[in-house]
Amino acid sequence: MSTTPESPVRSAAHDAGTGFGCPFCALACDDLSPPADNRAHGMDCERARAGFTLALEHTEATPRLAGVAATWDDAVAAAHTLLRNARLPLFHGLLGDLGDARSAWSLAARFGGVVDHRDGDAMARALGVYQDSGWITTSLGEARNRADLIVWVGEPIHDALPRLRERLFECRQRLHTDAAPEVVELGARPRERIDHVRTLHGGRPLPHDDPDATQLLEQLRNARYAVFLIGRLADDEADMALRTAGELVRELNEHQRAALLLTGQGPGDVSTQLCGAWRNGFGLRTSLARGYPEQDIKRFAARRLLDDGEADLLVWISSLDATPPPQTRQPQLVFGHPAMRFDHEPAVYLPVAVPGVHRAGFIHRGDAMRLVTLFAVTASTLPDLAALCARLLDDEAVTPC
Ligand code: SF4
Repeated sequence: MSTTPESPVRSAAHDAGTGFGCPFCALACDDLSPPADNRAHGMDCERARAGFTLALEHTEATPRLAGVAATWDDAVAAAHTLLRNARLPLFHGLLGDLGDARSAWSLAARFGGVVDHRDGDAMARALGVYQDSGWITTSLGEARNRADLIVWVGEPIHDALPRLRERLFECRQRLHTDAAPEVVELGARPRERIDHVRTLHGGRPLPHDDPDATQLLEQLRNARYAVFLIGRLADDEADMALRTAGELVRELNEHQRAALLLTGQGPGDVSTQLCGAWRNGFGLRTSLARGYPEQDIKRFAARRLLDDGEADLLVWISSLDATPPPQTRQPQLVFGHPAMRFDHEPAVYLPVAVPGVHRAGFIHRGDAMRLVTLFAVTASTLPDLAALCARLLDDEAVTPC
């Protein structure tokens, strides 16, 4: 089975005079130079260089059944059998582009499953706050152009978003000033500090002195546009910290401008969420098992479904990341990066094309404000997940094994 990269292809980016899109983290930068001679050296971002290099080195791969090489027909037939026999398949991972997300939702609708992203905990937390109380958010571009104070709520996530500092804090091409914004880091446990700032802002006394809260409130009141950038939060207070920050932003907006900025956690999380929302009105952690969508961000959490044995098949989709799925009691059907290696081979492994390297595609930036075009940069014999999905959705196109 082979595919030829569809348009837009490498030359299209050149013709349009635009940079290349990078799909390897939630920033989805679109200003890269294309890899030269099928090699990714020269890219400044280490994560991008590693992602492009790995995919460029693996343009072919063979499907496997329990670790044994198989034909595409046999592997697709085995995947179809697993899906058809599953009571509740869990579509998880989702480290891919918008096309991969569409395929996941189509398979979940056809075979009655649940969809959750690898970073579903953070996504569901944000979704819960948004659904309960709404919020005031901004985009990366708006923050870069206008913010004069950035408050990190949680630990900075520069490891997950390597160019965030460069693109947000150190950018000199700002609309209204050349000055970099002031940055305040609150650490992994910011809830009490934000709570104290809210108390002081409301003119109420604190239970004890908190000079840091007093100083932060002063900085906030002096700022023309304060942005609360959500980072990595301790699990036991993440929900409350996010809610409290959202409330503080709302209160500050009575007299000045302030906003939350959510950047996404990993590639594909926002594309998975938005694709689900368009298709069924909900998004992550929605079950289609009863023939209609039901969302429950706690009950349909992937980890709980796997631990409690409620899901009986793990369908792991990861075209962008070669990390294998977590070990599970359930059989695994993997649509994976061609360089993926396993300690425990899944029941079925179907290697797929990497979007932005082997094939064209689209991916949402982590602030959900931009859909970035991805270009194919090399030829590959690997199938697009959408092509495999089309076969799996058509019973007659699958030869029983
Ligand atoms: S920061 Fe992320 S999207 Fe940007 S070049 Fe690096 S890996 Fe790619």
